[in-house]
Amino acid sequence: MNPWKENYAPEDLEIVLCPVCGDKHKTHITIEFSLSVVKCQACGLLYVNPRPRDSEKNYWAPTRADMEKKYGAIFEGRKAHDRDSLYRSHLDTLARYQPTGNFLDVGTHCGFFLRHTRGRGWDAEGVEPSPVLGELAREKFGLKVKTGALESAAFPVESFEVITLLDVIEHLHDVRAMLKEIQRIIKPNGVFFIKTPNGTYNYFKHVIFHNLLRRHNYDCFDAREHVAAYTVPTLTRLLNETGWQVIASMPSAPVQTYGSHPVKIVGRNILYTVARAQHALTGQPGPFATDIILLAKKSSPLL
Ligand SMILES: [Zn+2]
Repeated sequence: MNPWKENYAPEDLEIVLCPVCGDKHKTHITIEFSLSVVKCQACGLLYVNPRPRDSEKNYWAPTRADMEKKYGAIFEGRKAHDRDSLYRSHLDTLARYQPTGNFLDVGTHCGFFLRHTRGRGWDAEGVEPSPVLGELAREKFGLKVKTGALESAAFPVESFEVITLLDVIEHLHDVRAMLKEIQRIIKPNGVFFIKTPNGTYNYFKHVIFHNLLRRHNYDCFDAREHVAAYTVPTLTRLLNETGWQVIASMPSAPVQTYGSHPVKIVGRNILYTVARAQHALTGQPGPFATDIILLAKKSSPLL
């Protein structure tokens, strides 16, 4: 069953304060599937408000049959995953900062990313809230994956040299709790790797499609799935306030899904080339980066 709705009733929704700064003042940006995307007047965060209650739990209960059908060929090694090269590039980036040690991937899904840590210098494991996905990661790829929320895994303090959070933070309802828990379990010299869609790019797309092309039904923010569209400045502020210091930010290569129209594939590659050029010149990923990567170290023990 598709858990995502075309229209949300008031009882499906909850009104929230800005997840980054806690302010309530906001400017309306657009509507997607009856959901309001707003911009915080205090810190500039783009977020959904009111937002669907518990939307992150939509990912936690897929059936095993659905996952076998969707990913069977990948599990059996007959087909590559369309993100394989992207995942390897993320690990190449990480290896430049922290090539060895204990490695934890948070929200590890079926382990499609985590499996690429094999043969490198880390001792890797994952944590995944969905029992079905965690079981598939263990069974199909022989990975070490704990089922449950990160907090319930109760890792000892300062356990990991590397912690990764890929395409997860934009779904989190209680993002501060997650960042503080990761801060607790990472080692003092550890590297935290976050990859998320770029809110600056989402907003750029919105301006092009809604304001210039008048395509008002074009979904630019994935508002049903993503509760916030982080940018480098808003994510940096959130990290600073939860005990982190950003050591690098960069554009991520785009997600190129199999079966995408060739024009889209070429378009994303052009955007990535422009984003890398802008990053080289300014040090910022800019609006042409479809996704951003931030690397952080912990700044101080949290009280
Ligand atoms: Zn704010």
